Amino acid sequence: MTVIELVDVDKVYPGTVQVHALRGVNLKINQGELVAITGPSGAGKSTLLNVLALLDTPTSGAYLLDDTDVSGLNEDARAKLRSNTFGFIFQSFHLLKKRSVLDNVALGLQYRGVVRAQALQLAREALEYVGLSKRRDFAADQLSGGERQRVAIARALVNNPALVLADEPTGNLDHKTTESIFELIQTLNAEQNIAFLLVTH
Ligand code: ADP
Ligand code: MG
Repeated sequence: MTVIELVDVDKVYPGTVQVHALRGVNLKINQGELVAITGPSGAGKSTLLNVLALLDTPTSGAYLLDDTDVSGLNEDARAKLRSNTFGFIFQSFHLLKKRSVLDNVALGLQYRGVVRAQALQLAREALEYVGLSKRRDFAADQLSGGERQRVAIARALVNNPALVLADEPTGNLDHKTTESIFELIQTLNAEQNIAFLLVTH
């Protein structure tokens, strides 16, 4: 089953000097696939992720999500679709620093209407999965970089996303931690059939 498909997508940033960031992109990601996109800085990787994440719109071309063209949806519809479809992992983690690890994973669920007790239960399970049960009650800023990224992965997977979008997820991590994060992503992909799109340089 195809999760997302881009057909002939272009993205042009307007301005005094136009930037043609994406040109004729055709991309299909199927359920359970793990796709890596690499390219030098400035190649358009983040632009591509922003388009896929419904944070930005293509200048031309079609974006099919579950076979429906979503390129013309309004912002409300896009926001809803975004939180129901994707998990996100960022280079700089984007955790709430003073909140507990458990809250960081549970809060997104609560925003989506899951009652707190159930959100906490799902968050505990996700944290166990990424090997962080013992850090559950720590504040996020008490963790190492690798641990922070595991929290972000738990937060991404707790929503049961069809696709996880990761923009240079190991960009701030040392070599050994990078390997363990990639192993975790591969395990998740294989065991839970979650599709991943990883961007790395
Ligand atoms: P990457 O993530 O591969 O480093 P980006 O997608 O961030 O590349 O950028 C691709 C090109 O688009 C670059 O030339 C960049 O300067 C340009 N660009 C990115 N975002 C914007 C924006 N909001 N406005 C204008 N130009 C942009
Ligand atoms: Mg980038």
